[in-house]
Amino acid sequence: MTEPRPASKKASCASCDAVCCRLTVVLQPEDRIPSHLTTQLPSGLHVMKHDEDGWCVAINSTRMNCGIYESRPAICRRFVMNGPYCKAVRSDYFEERAAAAQQA
Ligand code: SF4
Ligand code: SF4
Repeated sequence: MTEPRPASKKASCASCDAVCCRLTVVLQPEDRIPSHLTTQLPSGLHVMKHDEDGWCVAINSTRMNCGIYESRPAICRRFVMNGPYCKAVRSDYFEERAAAAQQA
């Protein structure tokens, strides 16, 4: 685990904890994802499953990158590094970690 740090203005996937892979990924009809990596929410939405730490189960936890990159869901393909959602999710993540570190 790395120490909590502020979300830098310029993020890089190469040095990020794949924070966007903690978001809910709603699967699209064209997605072809193995069923053991997906689940259905009570609302009926078909989504990527998360592990107990909050990351998508398709993550390669050693490299912290996508383990199914070539066949990743459409929503993941559209996610833009340094785009507004990337910045927002990183900011939230670092705030949560800083708060957790203060309570420890
Ligand atoms: S898109 Fe943003 S949040 Fe996702 S891995 Fe890259 S830098 Fe991190
Ligand atoms: S499918 Fe891959 S890119 Fe999409 S959330 Fe899961 S690990 Fe991340």
